[in-house]
Amino acid sequence: MDKNLVVGAGITGAVIANKIANELDEKVVLIDRRSTVAGNSYDYKDKETGITVHKYGPHIFHTNNKEVWDYLSKFTKWNYFFLKPNAVIEGEKVTLPFNLTTIRELFSPQMADRLEEKLISEYGYGIKVPILKLKEIEDKDLKFLSDYIYEHVFKNYTMKQWGVKPEEIDPSVTARVPIYISHDNRYFQDKYQGIPLNGYTKMIEKMVEHENIELRLGLDYKELKDPGFKRIFYTGAIDEYFEYKYGRLPYRSLRFDVQTLDREYYQKTVVTNYPNNYDFTRITEHKYFLDEKSNKTIISVEYPEEFELGKNERYYPISSPENQALYEKYLKEAEKFQNLYFCGRLGAYKYYNMDLAVEKAFELLSDCL
Ligand code: FAD
Ligand code: UDP
Repeated sequence: MDKNLVVGAGITGAVIANKIANELDEKVVLIDRRSTVAGNSYDYKDKETGITVHKYGPHIFHTNNKEVWDYLSKFTKWNYFFLKPNAVIEGEKVTLPFNLTTIRELFSPQMADRLEEKLISEYGYGIKVPILKLKEIEDKDLKFLSDYIYEHVFKNYTMKQWGVKPEEIDPSVTARVPIYISHDNRYFQDKYQGIPLNGYTKMIEKMVEHENIELRLGLDYKELKDPGFKRIFYTGAIDEYFEYKYGRLPYRSLRFDVQTLDREYYQKTVVTNYPNNYDFTRITEHKYFLDEKSNKTIISVEYPEEFELGKNERYYPISSPENQALYEKYLKEAEKFQNLYFCGRLGAYKYYNMDLAVEKAFELLSDCL
């Protein structure tokens, strides 16, 4: 029987392995150099407190794609969950995404009335406006508002997260968190949102549990001796695969300071952003994801860092025309090999959320099988 290789047991690799095993009834060897499945969506139950910890940062599944939602729902039940974070602005915890509620929290009622009226008449109720678009506005009051939001929500957070100002990164990045002309306090408005009821790791373990799938953890592609695969799906970094022959693709990384605290709760919401003060960007309190009870709590404080080979992990591709050109050089190299496919957040060098990673894996399989 033909054998396929999938490198990386994150959500992308799990979808690919599962579909080939199930739908094609072919064998798959699925490897990951980590000792765990689930890639960056990996979570684990802390032994002392029973709290499920998102090791690589807060992960909330959200999608408008029914096919993706229905597919994952075969492997998990969901804790229906809406992310409603706070941001600390001028020492106060206010609603994020920045919306009409946030305006009321920060300004006097008269001023809030004026700003709200102007925003609704300029854009309409229920409209989302990226900060860099809002900054183009000429009206005096709205200009004051856009400067305020830029300074207090985006500028310093982006400097910490990316090392440069908002206007120096791809506009799609800050547009992930638009100003929402509404009182809807949810960070995401997708139709389907949730956290796998028993965690992401259990969901992904179920996806890859199949008689056609041989899972080998703690194994790097470089150490794999077995040639002769019918197809290779590679969800690791494309520059690493080609031994950096054209140079390194840059990434941003993170460091998580995980702390168990001897108190029931640390903060009122699962995530609090700290755009302005401190060196960290956000604090996550993990017990909220699955509404877990304990007289202790676990938080992780998130510090952005530059990615350095051998020191930390690749978390975010950095979208820019130069980096895209370098990526495409590697992709051209890949095209010389038959049946070698690069996919996932690292393989595609794209800032994918989990739902898009799944959707792109579906698309790749329907194109190449
Ligand atoms: P990964 O999860 O990165 O998996 C790739 C795997 O390949 C890794 O396990 C790695 O060890 C393995 N690998 C790489 N190279 C090799 C090699 N040479 N040999 C063997 N194995 C290898 N998405 C959301 O939808 N909602 C969220 O709330 C959300 N929050 C996030 C928060 C943070 C801090 C971060 C960093 C990401 C977040 N994401 C979120 C994005 C989400 O993590 C990704 O969409 C998802 O993990 C992509 O899955 P993947 O399988 O493509 O890649
Ligand atoms: N952002 C910001 N302030 C915030 C939240 C987000 O400036 O309080 C900007 C920042 O540039 C960040 C981007 O918006 O990198 C995307 O934010 P998101 O919350 O989607 O980041 P992720 O969860 O993917 O790290």
